[in-house]
Amino acid sequence: MSTLEQDPQEVDLRRIGAPGAVSRLIAQREVPLGGPRGMIVTRTIPDRSLPTIGAWCFIDQGGPVEHRSRLLPHPHIGLQTVTWLIEGEMLHRDSLGTEVLIRPGQLDLMTSGRGIAHSEFTPGDGAPRMHLFQLWVALPDEARHQEPHFEQHSDLPQASGLGWSATVFMGALGGAISPAATYSPLVGAEVRIDPGVTARIPVDRAHEHGVLAARGGVEIDGVQLGAGPLLYLGTSRDELIIEAGPAGATLILVGGTPLREDLVMWWNFVGRSHDEIVAARDDWESNDARFGDIPYHRGARIPAPPLPNVRLTPRRRPPEPPQG
Ligand code: MN
Repeated sequence: MSTLEQDPQEVDLRRIGAPGAVSRLIAQREVPLGGPRGMIVTRTIPDRSLPTIGAWCFIDQGGPVEHRSRLLPHPHIGLQTVTWLIEGEMLHRDSLGTEVLIRPGQLDLMTSGRGIAHSEFTPGDGAPRMHLFQLWVALPDEARHQEPHFEQHSDLPQASGLGWSATVFMGALGGAISPAATYSPLVGAEVRIDPGVTARIPVDRAHEHGVLAARGGVEIDGVQLGAGPLLYLGTSRDELIIEAGPAGATLILVGGTPLREDLVMWWNFVGRSHDEIVAARDDWESNDARFGDIPYHRGARIPAPPLPNVRLTPRRRPPEPPQG
């Protein structure tokens, strides 16, 4: 996906440290992807109060909605895109020559490294029903200059317990370890909980987590969570205790050790400085070989938005407010 907010601003991505076992609801905002006729997605992070969860730096949920996607080639640097479908299909094409159909239950992971371009089209001419998540993982400094690569994983490990099961698409959960390439300690999983069950999901104490509802609703730490917002759960927990409503629930769980790096994030780029972002923008606008080409699109692409009139700077996450 491509961030196409009308007036993209730099966002705070500096972490100030593990805040402990807090819980806090982060409201979603609606963003049209790919311009005014694009799919409306709900974005939860980055948020001014919460720029990252572990290395997860961007979380969009789209649908369920009938939508025809024609998201033209656009660039990325410094991140991995994690595409996870609940419903529908998407055609991914990238400048490495990848052309794959993305389906529910599969992980599609694009590691941009120093630079890549991709497009995302729904197959056919109609507007199929779509329900998807697109998540970005910031690459740590030592991994962000690598050559780009794309992975598709259809045989993902499952974790389970009493009344719940999970498909682990990134990192590790409950003894299940995803084969996907990761560069920092983290987890990404689809968790399904049976109706009325209180699930106890073992997690890493060093990780902070975020939970979103894809289907149904749950209660965690006394907070009701339905479609839309993200529930942030701080570190220092051995398990997540999640009570599903009468319809059961399908959740997306992300987590990781709090990121200690200053990030500068603008448009589709994750970097470390203003100048680096400007250079990436210039490379895209000048058709530099850094991002490659997708011949299928015959030169059609999404132009970079103008830079803001201020220098892009990393800013720090504010301290957690007192609990209770
Ligand atoms: Mn994208």
